[in-house]
Amino acid sequence: MEVVESILCNNPCYKAGKKIKVQGLMIHSVGCPQPSAEVFVKKWNDANYGRACVHAFIDANTGKVYQTLPWDHRAWHCGGGGNNTHIGVEMCEPACIKYTGGATFTCSDESKAKEIVERTYRAAVELFAFLCKEYGLNPLADGVIVSHKEGHDRGIASGHGDPDHLWRQLNIGYTMDTFRQAVNDAMSGNAEKTPISVPKHDAQPAAVGGSMEISAAGVELVAKYEGCKLTAYKCPAGVWTIGYGHTEGVKEGDTLASMEAAKELLRKDLKKYAGYVNSCVEKGLIQFPLTQNQYDALTSFTYNCGNGNLQKLVSGRDAATVADKLLLYNKGGGKVLPGLVRRREEERVLFLS
Ligand SMILES: [Zn+2]
Repeated sequence: MEVVESILCNNPCYKAGKKIKVQGLMIHSVGCPQPSAEVFVKKWNDANYGRACVHAFIDANTGKVYQTLPWDHRAWHCGGGGNNTHIGVEMCEPACIKYTGGATFTCSDESKAKEIVERTYRAAVELFAFLCKEYGLNPLADGVIVSHKEGHDRGIASGHGDPDHLWRQLNIGYTMDTFRQAVNDAMSGNAEKTPISVPKHDAQPAAVGGSMEISAAGVELVAKYEGCKLTAYKCPAGVWTIGYGHTEGVKEGDTLASMEAAKELLRKDLKKYAGYVNSCVEKGLIQFPLTQNQYDALTSFTYNCGNGNLQKLVSGRDAATVADKLLLYNKGGGKVLPGLVRRREEERVLFLS
């Protein structure tokens, strides 16, 4: 989840400066064909925009979260008592829909609209899981996660139909119940339906023990997909990186003498990730005897997706299921990335050979 801090300091609601005790989360959809969160941020960050103010917008093109108020600030998002208890988050909408009256719309590009709505839904699931953890909320408890529409039904919000109207008319199969369940799954680490490949800045300490080591072929597989730079650069997450994704102790201006030096660093780094695989064996999370190829494939996966996703991938599964589920981890920033699709396919082939 990428959060872009865009606090609406000029909005009268921000200036009102009231705090709430967060007891729930309300999901909204903007109700107009505007995919860009930045457009809303610009328009609403105005001393004369006194009509509304929410805690965040989810950009429809990127899935990024634009946080527009501190989470415990009292927002003006639902026109009712829900403002005193609930955080309000707006999902932006596809440009290819056209409202024809009320919550009814026509759509000129249905597959594009579905792609966008799927992206904002997934980003909202991730954000709500984060907020539920942050405020100790149970996503499945009555009245905790509600739509604007449900808020109205409960007497705490004005008479709007969002965001259900969007999901229903696009026939995408999402409901508030699937949403709440998805948030719950994301919190319990059972988020297989919406796996997200994460950058590998893994804060966990290296696993101890373990008996296997990644083979030379395994190192080559990782090297092939990581790309190599001999001069330090800032990765998309803002971390100084060198060689094949090495980050520890790297600073601006660092250089490596050769590709071989870069590969040596990679081999060293891979030990930590191979250690996570060993640790899964020791803890009994991997319940089948690992071949060298399976071990190499899982180490490559872990270097790319992190230890948390490794544990999710293998826990209680047989080898065939692990091989199939591996392919699901092909997204970055909510989008399927061709490089990740190829990498997962190659890891799967290795895993099964
Ligand atoms: Zn709303």
